[in-house]
Amino acid sequence: MKILLVEDSTAVVLVMTRRLSSFGHDVLLAKNGREAVDMFRDCAPDLVLMDIEMPVMNGFEAASRIRAVEATQQWAWTPIIFLTASDTVENLITAIEAGGDDFMSKTVPEPVLQAKMKAMARIATLRQRLSVANHKLEELACSDGLTGLCNRRSMDERVDVAFAHASMLGGAFGLLMLDIDNFKKYNDHYGHQQGDDCLRKVAATIGATVEAANTGGLTTGALAARYGGEEFAVVLPGVSDAALQEVAHSIVQAVRQLGIAHEKNGHWPVVTISVGGARRSPAVGEVGDIFRAADAQLYRAKEGGRNRAEIAPA
Ligand code: GH3
Ligand code: MG
Ligand code: MG
Ligand code: MG
Repeated sequence: MKILLVEDSTAVVLVMTRRLSSFGHDVLLAKNGREAVDMFRDCAPDLVLMDIEMPVMNGFEAASRIRAVEATQQWAWTPIIFLTASDTVENLITAIEAGGDDFMSKTVPEPVLQAKMKAMARIATLRQRLSVANHKLEELACSDGLTGLCNRRSMDERVDVAFAHASMLGGAFGLLMLDIDNFKKYNDHYGHQQGDDCLRKVAATIGATVEAANTGGLTTGALAARYGGEEFAVVLPGVSDAALQEVAHSIVQAVRQLGIAHEKNGHWPVVTISVGGARRSPAVGEVGDIFRAADAQLYRAKEGGRNRAEIAPA
């Protein structure tokens, strides 16, 4: 375990560090409560052993600040054990009330310390596994099962945050709505399975084009999502008018250049996509307005013959 030892007495530090290290743990040291809170934030320890009486900031105050840091992270709870001079009932109650999980006398016999650390190490392992599992679950909940792009729910959440952010700072905000052309006919002609394959390829191309715009410096933090069925959306915070145009046209071109045969796609023998875009600079009004504006442009692109991008004038 990575143990954060918070203690101002050099004598206690020496004994504790020697023992904990001999059990195989890494010991980080803070000399008062304030240092402890800072180190906790920077080092994310598995366990905190916290003295109570210390200069600058005492252990109870430090524990409640650590809990406040954790309140901003989902499911975070690092065990805190208070180190006390005496193991009285009053000390125990105060320690738990202050956000501690247990308390231990500074003169605890070595085998007892070792046993307690074993129990804490078990909890630390479980917490790590839980954190990995939660991370995976979060990823699954945010991504679309078929294409691996961001799903609609998670995109809506991010759009709300990005739009509010742009509104507050007076920044621009761009949005593209994309829809595969004559996809019902594709499914009818080639079958649903091949329709799914096509969706995957088109999604990967949209994702790669957006990613290239980000890494090439054309856009920053642009994000592609599967919006539903054969519809996609790209949100582009802070985008310029020229960059929005360029990304939209690049996607139309990249999808066509995939060259996926589509005999029933009107003028073109390959799968194509139509794109509608809108941009607000600065981002004003409601986020729904920009979705409606982009949708109206998508309608124009379809009416205009498909396989094209239409962007609302700035
Ligand atoms: P338009 O050019 O006007 O967009 O015509 P369209 O045929 O693409 O539009 P429409 O909305 O009529 O049909 C969309 C089709 O997309 C209907 C549905 O079968 C297909 N589709 C939606 N989701 C999926 C999916 O997950 N997999 C497959 N294979 N097809 C899907
Ligand atoms: Mg002390
Ligand atoms: Mg559609
Ligand atoms: Mg369509």
